[in-house]
Amino acid sequence: MALRKILTEEDETLKKKSRPVTEVTDRIRSILDDMAETMHEANGVGLAAPQVGILRRMFVVQVDEDHLYELINPEIVESDGDQYGEEGCLSVPGYVGMVHRAEYVRIKGLDRNGQPVEYEGEGLLARAFQHEYDHLDGILYTQKADDIHFAESGEEEEE
Ligand code: ZN
Repeated sequence: MALRKILTEEDETLKKKSRPVTEVTDRIRSILDDMAETMHEANGVGLAAPQVGILRRMFVVQVDEDHLYELINPEIVESDGDQYGEEGCLSVPGYVGMVHRAEYVRIKGLDRNGQPVEYEGEGLLARAFQHEYDHLDGILYTQKADDIHFAESGEEEEE
């Protein structure tokens, strides 16, 4: 495993749409491992492949100690409700903003073995899934946020 460099918002790569993963190979698994390590090192709760310069549709999310979610070619198949809360991004270091997201999502994709998986998320987990999914379409939370401002403490959760 290796740490990867996290691109920041001025990088054009982050504005591009990622392509699907065509085959889940050892190389893909190795990138997922690096992404998880990089996310943990940066104290983030999510990281999408384009944030480390790889325009493929996959991301990792971990909002608590229990479960590392790895999703390849994810699709949000259901969403419900509304939450309005503070959000940050590892590609926009130091800043937070207020973003509307669905309160609940159901998401499908492939796991690291290429097997179909489906997860449900509420609250912060749902927010992280939607934030990371947006990265795959070249969308940063700053395009959706109100009141973007510099965070006073370094304790914000960033994705
Ligand atoms: Zn982000």
